[in-house]
Amino acid sequence: AAVRDVVYVYPDGRKALDGVSFHVGEEERVALVGPNGAGKSTLLWVLSGLLPPTSGEVRWRGRTLDEAGRRSLRARVGLVFQDPDDQLFSPTVWEDVAFGPLQAGLPDAEVSRRVDAALVKVGMSHVRDRPPHHLSQGEKKRVAVATVLAMEPELWLLDEPTAGLDPRARRQLVALLRELHGAQVVATHDLRLVAELCSRAVVLDGGRVVAEGPARTLLRDAELLNRHGLEPWPPPEEVP
Ligand code: ADP
Repeated sequence: AAVRDVVYVYPDGRKALDGVSFHVGEEERVALVGPNGAGKSTLLWVLSGLLPPTSGEVRWRGRTLDEAGRRSLRARVGLVFQDPDDQLFSPTVWEDVAFGPLQAGLPDAEVSRRVDAALVKVGMSHVRDRPPHHLSQGEKKRVAVATVLAMEPELWLLDEPTAGLDPRARRQLVALLRELHGAQVVATHDLRLVAELCSRAVVLDGGRVVAEGPARTLLRDAELLNRHGLEPWPPPEEVP
C-alpha cells in the first residue's frame, strides 16, 4: 500500500494526519510507532478504507482508493482492533469468525472451511461454541485475529496487538502474527514487538512521519525514540 500526502481532519476540526506518506510492500511487516495521539489509529482506519482521507491518496496494488476502490479494498484489508471487545459481538466464537465471510456472500461450505481453518490456525477450535465475552484477553485477541484471517486479507492492520496481554499470551500472539501471510502494518508503542516482528518502522508524531527506516536502526536511536515519547528496546541496562 502506498499513502501519499494524506491529511485527515476529524469532524470537530482536529487534524489527526498532517501530510503522511509511506509505503508497505506486499509481504512486508511495517511498524507504525509513536506516542499516544500521534495519529496511528487514524492512519490504520484510513488504510482500511473505513475513513476517507480529507486529502491525499491511498493506493493498494497500484489502484487508487476512490469510493468504489475503498469498497473492494475493505474485503482485502483486515483491521484488528486494539480492544477485541469492539470486534467480537456474536453469541459464539464460531459465529463471530463466520460473520465476515457470510457478509461477503461466500457459499456456506466455503464459510465453514474458512472458519474452521482460521480457528485451527489461532489455536481456538476448542472454544468455537463459547461466547467470546467469556474468554481471557489473550484468547479474545486470537479470536479477533481469526475473524480477520477468515477473510484471507492481503493487508493486515493491527492496532496495539500486544496491549493488555500477559507474557505467555503475548508470546503466542507474536508467534501467530509471524506466521500470517500478507503485508502487515502494526501500530504500537511496544518497541519489543517492533524488534520481534517488523523489518521496517515509521515514526509518527503530531500526525506527521518524523522518521522512517530499518527497524533495527531506528530501535537503536535512543535520542530519536525519547524525543517521540518511546522507550528504547532492549532497555538500557538497569542501575542496581
Ligand atoms: P494514536 O493512535 O497514535 O494514539 P489517534 O489516531 O487515536 O492517535 O489520534 C490522533 C489525534 O486525533 C489525537 O489528537 C486524537 O485526540 C484525535 N482524535 C482521535 N479520534 C478522534 C475523533 N473521533 N474525533 C476527534 N478527534 C479524534
